[in-house]
Amino acid sequence: MNKLTQKALSLAEIPFIRSATVLAVRVWEPDTVREVDIHLPDCDVSKWTSTQHIKFKVDSGVYRDYTPAGWDGETRTCTIIMHTAHDGPGSRWAKQLHAGDTVMYLGVASSHQQPVKGKPLVFLGDETTIGHFLALQQLAGAGASINGALVMAEPHHRDEFGQYFLGWGLQSLRKGASRNYGELEGWLEDHAFSEQQDAVFYLAGYSPEVGRLRKLLRKKGVQVVARGFWD
Ligand SMILES: Cc1cc2nc3c(=O)[nH]c(=O)nc-3n(C[C@H](O)[C@H](O)[C@H](O)COP(=O)(O)OP(=O)(O)OC[C@H]3O[C@@H](n4cnc5c(N)ncnc54)[C@H](O)[C@@H]3O)c2cc1C
Repeated sequence: MNKLTQKALSLAEIPFIRSATVLAVRVWEPDTVREVDIHLPDCDVSKWTSTQHIKFKVDSGVYRDYTPAGWDGETRTCTIIMHTAHDGPGSRWAKQLHAGDTVMYLGVASSHQQPVKGKPLVFLGDETTIGHFLALQQLAGAGASINGALVMAEPHHRDEFGQYFLGWGLQSLRKGASRNYGELEGWLEDHAFSEQQDAVFYLAGYSPEVGRLRKLLRKKGVQVVARGFWD
């Protein structure tokens, strides 16, 4: 984006931009996943009935989307889980956040995924989608039948995820390379098709792999809801 466009966007955004406060930051080991608690005083989060994303200002005229993983209507707070293993303005911004910081955001919008009531839900994605699937779990409520798998690059993250989300029904699998969802395909062949014809499959994450898995699932005749996050 050239400087003139950036300046025009900065001026145009002024009436719309809102501020929020970072309450706490929890860092996974190694530090490529961060959980950030945020207070959004101007946002009535109790109205959220589908997965949402917040467009944060991560640099001058630069915005990136992140998903509230869980939220509390009374305190107007939410938690966001950010993946920071790559180099980009969003990742750099997430890595320097501290409790007490003021952050700016342009708006909150629906990512248009909702749990289908009464059906088993299967979640498939990567580190960027942990928050998205936690949001679907919150919307589905207690007693929902959830399983699936997420690919993660770091062995320690896979272990921690397994302990932290024990009982959630989601497995953590090895991510071959930063863009490789091959293990999810294997997981689907082993677990899903024979046993889960009635389930709804939710895909999110790296857009080309989400597209590839969606095609594969459609061929099997199961219901699929897909959302690419990055490419
Ligand atoms: C609706 C929506 C919700 C989202 N929610 C979340 C969320 O809750 N948590 C979260 O972590 N992300 C989330 N994302 C993804 C996040 O917005 C992108 O990963 C974004 O590209 C990161 O911006 P960046 O400036 O760090 O990198 P960019 O400038 O966009 O990209 C720089 C380089 O890094 C690569 N890249 C980008 N993201 C990744 C990644 N995760 N792993 C490896 N390489 C990458 C790009 O291909 C590019 O080569 C969401 C995206 C969408 C559309």
